[in-house]
Amino acid sequence: MTPVIEVQDVHKTYRLGKTHVHALRGVSLKVYPGEFVAIMGPSGSGKSTFMNIIGCLDRPTSGSYRLDGVEVAKLNDNQLAEIRNRKIGFVFQQFNLLPRATALRNVELPLLYNGRFRDRHERAKRALEAVGLGHRLNSRPNELSGGEQQRVAIARALVNEPSVILADEPTGNLDSRRGEEIMAIFQRLNDEGKVIVLVTHEWDIARHAKRIVRFRDGKIVGDEPVTERLIAEEVLKTLPALEDEEEEEVVTA
Ligand code: ADP
Repeated sequence: MTPVIEVQDVHKTYRLGKTHVHALRGVSLKVYPGEFVAIMGPSGSGKSTFMNIIGCLDRPTSGSYRLDGVEVAKLNDNQLAEIRNRKIGFVFQQFNLLPRATALRNVELPLLYNGRFRDRHERAKRALEAVGLGHRLNSRPNELSGGEQQRVAIARALVNEPSVILADEPTGNLDSRRGEEIMAIFQRLNDEGKVIVLVTHEWDIARHAKRIVRFRDGKIVGDEPVTERLIAEEVLKTLPALEDEEEEEVVTA
């Protein structure tokens, strides 16, 4: 099977005046059809840089990136934009909706960029129905809750029918119940065949994925499936604090 995303030995160096920042130091990753990957790691570990590269928003300094088998590292800006619009849907922490446009209008926008004018209402409506907002087509962002605004943003990401959804901290601005609702939508989209790659700091969010990839200092330092055992281990990590407290009690008693 051809990977949807195939990154090989990718380096990314930013130049800041005379200094160089090595944001990615030899990253390799394959993501296959049907996968749902959570990317975790401390701030500054290279997660956003990596997402920008796999989202065709930026190019590696060296190394190879194939999207659906096509080497994108060498495409020019127009080709990169074209492939991005066609294959990838983005969801961000800030919902980035146009404040004065209705939900329907916000979701239609990517179709307009792609020159698909004809059936745009119907398509945008279907995308909003898919995230449970068929009854809010004419609402503006300030008339919607945070969770609903993020659902509009997901509909906007879906409207061009991309094979890959990239989400950078999509639940970062939501309370845990809204966050769970958004993750349920991502899980359903994944069940329907979308590849999902999502950055999160929170284990409670990451555990909804099928695989966790961990970044540190511009490298991948962990890559494992989400299993019952992993979930149990992560829960256990929260327990030593309790044991310490018990020990203290014994000492002071
Ligand atoms: P993360 O998303 O894990 O927080 P980033 O990919 O944003 O990490 O950053 C990785 C490193 O690259 C950091 O040291 C950051 O300061 C640096 N960096 C990111 N973007 C730029 C940029 N546009 N110019 C210079 N340095 C950058």
